[in-house]
Amino acid sequence: MIAIIRQGVNEKQIDSLITWLESQNLSVHLSKGEFTTILGLVGDTSKIDIELLENLEIVEKVKRISEPFKSANRKFHPNDSIIDVSGVKIGGDNFALIAGPCSVESEAQIIDIAKRVKASGASLLRGGAFKPRTSPYDFQGLQADGLELLKLAKRETGMPIVSEIMNTNHLELFEDVDLIQVGARNMQNFELLKELGKINKPILLKRGLANTMKEWLMSAEYIMAGGNENIILCERGIRTFETYTRNTLDLSAVPMLKELSHLPIIVDPSHASGISRLVKPMALASTACGAHGLMIEVHNDPKNALCDGAQSLTPAEFDDVAKSVEKIREVTAL
Ligand code: PEP
Ligand code: MN
Repeated sequence: MIAIIRQGVNEKQIDSLITWLESQNLSVHLSKGEFTTILGLVGDTSKIDIELLENLEIVEKVKRISEPFKSANRKFHPNDSIIDVSGVKIGGDNFALIAGPCSVESEAQIIDIAKRVKASGASLLRGGAFKPRTSPYDFQGLQADGLELLKLAKRETGMPIVSEIMNTNHLELFEDVDLIQVGARNMQNFELLKELGKINKPILLKRGLANTMKEWLMSAEYIMAGGNENIILCERGIRTFETYTRNTLDLSAVPMLKELSHLPIIVDPSHASGISRLVKPMALASTACGAHGLMIEVHNDPKNALCDGAQSLTPAEFDDVAKSVEKIREVTAL
């Protein structure tokens, strides 16, 4: 349920309404825009007398929200949310490029890639340390050592870092990771989501392999319900009957989610296609349809990469993509 507050009402009146609503066992989400102030109410609103609320002098209108996602709902927060990842803003008019290898493999590898993607305009460095591999016999990532190397690259380049968490027991290891990724396979790991709701750090929530947009937003809601509203959504392709590509990039998710939610949405064209030569066209299309950023896998030696080499760009290819993305941004800003 939302209560739209009349214009010109003073803070004190809003505060006392919030106090009363909270005494009714509701949690209240205050959204202050330039022209509208909205109180979003979460909890059992069935006992609230809508007429009584609407008759209050300071309330303009009361509406029920039919969607199951509340805090993530655009109706709760009409303005775009802008997420600050250690100084890098994502959302609204802010666009960011996240780049780096699928997995951190060595100090030389991560430092070299970090410097090169930064020179091409990437503002965040990605690198997997705990890898969700289909086979237990495949490289599982350098784990805690991988995170240390990623932190080293952060110190060398000043770039904030992004890495995937798979287990709540590892939370302490992620203390210096600027943006914690929840991978596709864990999008509905509800215990993990609940724990991430308790921390005050941005979360990159990737879409599950076969999940609907509603389920995806409900996963965001799990994190937000715990109090952490710093979420960036990432479309990374979904499972379909198609086999030529690793996944099918659902670009309609970008404008659809921008309508449904205030959370920023970025696209990962690397996992979406699985083929390095498709990354550029998909990156450009994602930019053109309004994504707030891209996450692209880059490796200095893709042929010998320990993970996802087939979809990884070389630093030179990434540089070309970054330049073309900039051109698309100039055109779409018109
Ligand atoms: C990744 O980003 O390296 C990754 C494993 O992605 P996803 O969870 O989308 O498969
Ligand atoms: Mn990967």
